[in-house]
Amino acid sequence: MSCGLSPVFQLRSHRHLHQAPAVRYINSQHVISISLPPGLSFPMQQQVSLGPPKPAVKCGVPGCDSNKRYTCAKTGIPLCSLACYKKNLSLRLGGHTQDDTGHVTCS
Ligand SMILES: [Zn+2]
Repeated sequence: MSCGLSPVFQLRSHRHLHQAPAVRYINSQHVISISLPPGLSFPMQQQVSLGPPKPAVKCGVPGCDSNKRYTCAKTGIPLCSLACYKKNLSLRLGGHTQDDTGHVTCS
């Protein structure tokens, strides 16, 4: 059993390891050193962030100027509170939620 690819793979792997841009951090008894690959600035930008700042979305209910906190699952409208949720629903549904108010049509 002989594998001819093995030495080549090892050689390429070694070269790749040597040339790979990597951050090398040395922390010995007397020397603390950080080597960085070219093109990488230091201090590094914080990678763990909350993402790009989102534009402030206002509540979608007319007359309400609060910031969005929720999104209505039924209408997709940005909402700020439960009160606005109900208000939005009643606006969107055109008052059809009030079916039990005695509004019965008899022929
Ligand atoms: Zn609101």
